[in-house]
Amino acid sequence: MTKSIVVLGAGMVGTCTALHLALRGHAVTLVDRREPGRETSYGNAGLIQREAVEPYAFPRQLGTLARVALKRGADVNYHFGALAGLARPLARYWAHSQPRRHALLSQAFARLIEHSTLEHAPLIEQAGAGDLVKRDGYHFVFRSSVSMQQAADKARALEQSHGLRHTTLDPDALAAAEPALRTRLAGAIHWHDTWAVSDPGALVARYADLFEKVGGTLAKGDAASLNPTASGWQVRTENGAISAEHAVVALGPWSDTLLRQLGYRFPLFVKRGYHRHYRGGEPPRLAMYDVDRGLVLAPMRQGVRITTGAEFAQLDARPTPVQLDRAWALARELVDLPEPVEPEPWLGARPCTADMLPVIGPAPRHRGLWFNLGHAHQGFTLGPVSGRLMAEMIEGQTPVVDPKPYAPARFG
Ligand SMILES: Cc1cc2nc3c(=O)[nH]c(=O)nc-3n(C[C@H](O)[C@H](O)[C@H](O)COP(=O)(O)OP(=O)(O)OC[C@H]3O[C@@H](n4cnc5c(N)ncnc54)[C@H](O)[C@@H]3O)c2cc1C
Repeated sequence: MTKSIVVLGAGMVGTCTALHLALRGHAVTLVDRREPGRETSYGNAGLIQREAVEPYAFPRQLGTLARVALKRGADVNYHFGALAGLARPLARYWAHSQPRRHALLSQAFARLIEHSTLEHAPLIEQAGAGDLVKRDGYHFVFRSSVSMQQAADKARALEQSHGLRHTTLDPDALAAAEPALRTRLAGAIHWHDTWAVSDPGALVARYADLFEKVGGTLAKGDAASLNPTASGWQVRTENGAISAEHAVVALGPWSDTLLRQLGYRFPLFVKRGYHRHYRGGEPPRLAMYDVDRGLVLAPMRQGVRITTGAEFAQLDARPTPVQLDRAWALARELVDLPEPVEPEPWLGARPCTADMLPVIGPAPRHRGLWFNLGHAHQGFTLGPVSGRLMAEMIEGQTPVVDPKPYAPARFG
């Protein structure tokens, strides 16, 4: 039976949710205050991370913690004034990062990641977006031979447990694979199953075009106007008020504002991140993650995109792109990147949960309300499988992945 559904938020997660529902013949309106794919899903590193079977844990090694506290790397920064407000979700994040607990959570996370490229593939095909996607993997590069060795051991274990294909490169093999490198590194791991997108926002826009082609409606509106009605939900848009039996909240880092308005206090927080494009030198052939310094260099349409790690701050606090300055200096040790493309860096925010698992499922206390949010470091990767899961749950079908670990009810 055809259902009417309004999806709030047209990032990768909301767009894929709306698309999966529209492909199943439902009457779907996708509401955003901007064009699809212009926020977090625009500014990420563009990696469809099939290798990311373990969610990003709170660092627990003393060396990393000292670097964080002293604000030395490009991986972590924090606003001192924001820490008190973040203390509760961060304390829970720390607790969930305890190795045994993290290993359990990783099993649930991996079940989604296993479907990441599998679920992107048909959407890329139907959206005619193959020109945006390179399917030849990416490199973890290492400056220190100790961290290289640890990562090689870990990669071997992951290949055994999850079938993740990889090749370990010694310094000479890495230099041959990446002629743009200006320095001799300790080596690299080439993850073969990860895909790289040359314009992440454009991929979301192509999925949104496909959504319209199969009968979906795009509307501009403010999700804060969502209200329950006798038969479902209503939201105000530029096309007038839209009423639907079901509403899906997929507002990425802004989800918490609406959830609080509805009476939910979930342990959500954001990790902000910056990027900027650079030109002028030879770009790397594949995207590379500089593991020892915490930055990513991703060749994109606009230039080489450097992305930073996490900044713990309030979502709407002013930008403090010190990590990007550090990241650019560190990146220039690796490849020649003399010219910034944009006058100012881009700032976005990863939507995080304290237990590192996304929130996908029915709202505990509202009929016809659904949540699809909190995808943290891997929302660009997980949009299609999360969207499918949500569509199958709304239809009352058996979902492709057991949804229990992602249930909103775990947070009350
Ligand atoms: C620097 C950086 C690098 C990253 N690299 C990767 C990567 O390589 N691979 C990967 O998988 N993930 C990566 N991520 C994470 C990934 O980008 C996010 O997890 C993902 O984009 C979240 O998607 P989303 O659809 O939930 O949120 P968003 O893309 O932010 O979408 C939310 C939408 O809600 C809309 N919205 C908000 N408030 C309202 C309102 N009141 N009314 C109407 N609309 C509203 C916004 O306009 C937006 O379009 C990275 C993130 C960062 C910051």
